[in-house]
Amino acid sequence: MSKLKICWNCGSKLPLSRLFCEQCHKIQKDLPSNQFELMGVDIKFNLDPVALEYAYFEAQAQTHPDRFVSASAQEKLYASQNSVYLNKAYQTLKDPLKRAEHLLELNGFPTQAQTTQDPVLLIELMKLQERLEQNPEKTRSVIRERYDISLEEIAKAFSDKDFHNAKKTLDKLKYLHRLLEER
Ligand SMILES: [Zn+2]
Repeated sequence: MSKLKICWNCGSKLPLSRLFCEQCHKIQKDLPSNQFELMGVDIKFNLDPVALEYAYFEAQAQTHPDRFVSASAQEKLYASQNSVYLNKAYQTLKDPLKRAEHLLELNGFPTQAQTTQDPVLLIELMKLQERLEQNPEKTRSVIRERYDISLEEIAKAFSDKDFHNAKKTLDKLKYLHRLLEER
């Protein structure tokens, strides 16, 4: 059920995710807001990082200014806009937390600012915070371990399409990430 767009130059219909028109080969301006589609990778949490990187460099090379030296100002503009979109999509998809957030949004679960009301999580975080002050090194490895476990949990929640659980786990991941960044 891929969405279609109309080429601004020749008027032919083509899939929304295409960077170039198949008929006139002009660079396109309307790209999907779904960053997975934009990058041409599967819409899932467990992305192959190598495939993602490959898709990104492949797409980015196609919007490189060198390829548009003799193009019109309009095409140059679309190429540079697309390059920005692609870069943003790549930054989103390669970061597991941002990727999870985007995947939740796409499934109708927007994530707002963090305000977890989960008392179990809050107590766990408070304890970790205390331990961090007393024994930073050891606690950091404990937090890192819990972070990795939560990453596995969120991957499972996404593959089960359990978005409520994914959202809850994302909250936890964000807090743990923040603790790891603290010092
Ligand atoms: Zn065209």
